[in-house]
Amino acid sequence: MDRDMVISIDVGGTKTRWGVVSRSTRKVIATSVRPTEQRRSDIVPTLYSGGAELLQSIGVDWRVVHQISIGVPGMVSTKGEIYNCPNAPEWENLDVSSLRENTGCSVRVVKDVNLAVMGEWNSQHSIESDLVVIYVGTGIGMGAIVQGSPLLGARGLAGEIGHWVVQADGEVCACGNRGCLETVASGSALEKAATALGYEKETAVASLLKGWSSGEERAAAAVNSAIHHLGNTVADLINLLDPVRIVLGGGVIEGTPELTGAIASVARAHARSRRVTQTVIETSQLGNQAPLIGGIWA
Ligand SMILES: [Zn+2]
Repeated sequence: MDRDMVISIDVGGTKTRWGVVSRSTRKVIATSVRPTEQRRSDIVPTLYSGGAELLQSIGVDWRVVHQISIGVPGMVSTKGEIYNCPNAPEWENLDVSSLRENTGCSVRVVKDVNLAVMGEWNSQHSIESDLVVIYVGTGIGMGAIVQGSPLLGARGLAGEIGHWVVQADGEVCACGNRGCLETVASGSALEKAATALGYEKETAVASLLKGWSSGEERAAAAVNSAIHHLGNTVADLINLLDPVRIVLGGGVIEGTPELTGAIASVARAHARSRRVTQTVIETSQLGNQAPLIGGIWA
């Protein structure tokens, strides 16, 4: 295939992952990771150099690349405008036109979980009409396929479940509102809870989740509260969309896949039962490759 490769760039709140993906085999050929660039003037040069180095590592250059697909953790319109990016604020209103000029490739900017849902759907679950993907990482995001089409909304801004209000007078969220799901169940919320409980800051979330898995008492309340809120969110999504399958991924779930079973049991207790028994709730089998593969269809 002429220009068979896609460069997918999955931007997280803390880490950014580059992937070279083949359009013909739908396989990830090479990946690299760097901390997410937070200095505005360095963002586009870093997107470029990350891609160029990765291509060089496999002995090719931009001439084999069909498209650069960038997934950003925030509100992104169908035109690729980044409106609001609470976990990487310097990325808001980013202009990527120089990346297009310097590489000769088309560039697409979309919401990160919309890349993930396209990867999951096209390479794992393409026969299913209705699929939801929820990522729990620094923030919480959702992408969905509804009746065989991506759920985008009028301007591409649908699916902001991380900012569903779950506690009317709760804590202030990075987005500026109060009581969002992210304030009680995201990686950043868990980090805050873990450091307050005395866990070492650098490894706080991992230690807290490990403590929860091994039945440590001080970890239980914080993690169970996050599970409770995530389970209710899954139940709400089942009631709203009646999906065939809900796939959970993102850094927090990948590190502790047994969270999925705990979240699913809360969901089963709160969703309208006849439907929930028909919805499969599972951990992503593609893991962090899903958004990279999804770049093919961005
Ligand atoms: Zn919020």
